[in-house]
Amino acid sequence: MSDYQVLLYYKYTTIDDPETFAKEHLAFCKEIGLKGRILVAEEGINGTVSGTTEATEKYKNAMHADPRFSDMVFKIDEADKHAFKKMFVRPRKEIVSLHLEHDLSPLEVTGKYLEPEEFREALQDPDTVILDARNDYEYDLGHFRGAIRPDIKAFRELPNWVEENRDQFDGKKVVTYCTGGIRCEKFSGWLKTAGFDDVAQLHGGIATYGKNEKTKGEFWDGMMYVFDERISVPINRVEHTIVGKDHFDGTPCERYINCANPHCNKQILASEENDEKYLHSCSHECRVHPDNLYVKKHNLTKEQLEARLNAIGENLETSSAK
Ligand SMILES: [Zn+2]
Repeated sequence: MSDYQVLLYYKYTTIDDPETFAKEHLAFCKEIGLKGRILVAEEGINGTVSGTTEATEKYKNAMHADPRFSDMVFKIDEADKHAFKKMFVRPRKEIVSLHLEHDLSPLEVTGKYLEPEEFREALQDPDTVILDARNDYEYDLGHFRGAIRPDIKAFRELPNWVEENRDQFDGKKVVTYCTGGIRCEKFSGWLKTAGFDDVAQLHGGIATYGKNEKTKGEFWDGMMYVFDERISVPINRVEHTIVGKDHFDGTPCERYINCANPHCNKQILASEENDEKYLHSCSHECRVHPDNLYVKKHNLTKEQLEARLNAIGENLETSSAK
């Protein structure tokens, strides 16, 4: 039995004074023992928290007792420990950062909601394009089969990317999806205002699709990237394919590490073997950086570092130009 749960949730609703709300909400979350990240804005709330099942039950009940969140949907993952180290509740301008020039409210304009079974049909419809509304590194670990991969590092870049790649969507129905559904609420609304007529979104996101008993995550390839210490979770319960590729040798891989150069900190996929072999670092520049945490942790002398670099065809004098 898992003793912990991870809750993923959001709600577009009006919160009059996000600053005060955030302060009180943080105190409440700490009091019941939750950890996680919650964003609060005048437009609503967006959170992921972890805690003992007792704590998450308390939280869900308290939220549902508040008329603003009475119908809020919680996506629940069982876990055996916390998925965060600390508890943050932050007041923000938006609960997801899209930074639109003319902000819009999903309560006024948003794409049609597709339930998991309808989404599965859309996946197989040749007149529909499936657009992944997440970032490139999320897509690269796992995505719906055949979905379009926007070349973006942050959500706010998505509208521009769509404008520049409009030809891929012309005359098609557009269906978007994201982790828990929140990004698509606003993004699909933006698509409509940008002139796309037939726009739909996966209701509740990939998380809901994966838990649905009928769809069982079918046609999802790889793992789903999550923004907590778990890094990734499984979705497809019909079959499992690996789409991630090892940063160093391109072999199938689903293991994420953060580059040991703290100024880079890039997330890359690496097997345990390559992780060790390449000093937990994404590039030569990062391996020889004076602040490299792997080198510090292992107390490598200059000679030892040189030997380790030699083993992979590099040396301390290798020029940065490749
Ligand atoms: Zn690096």
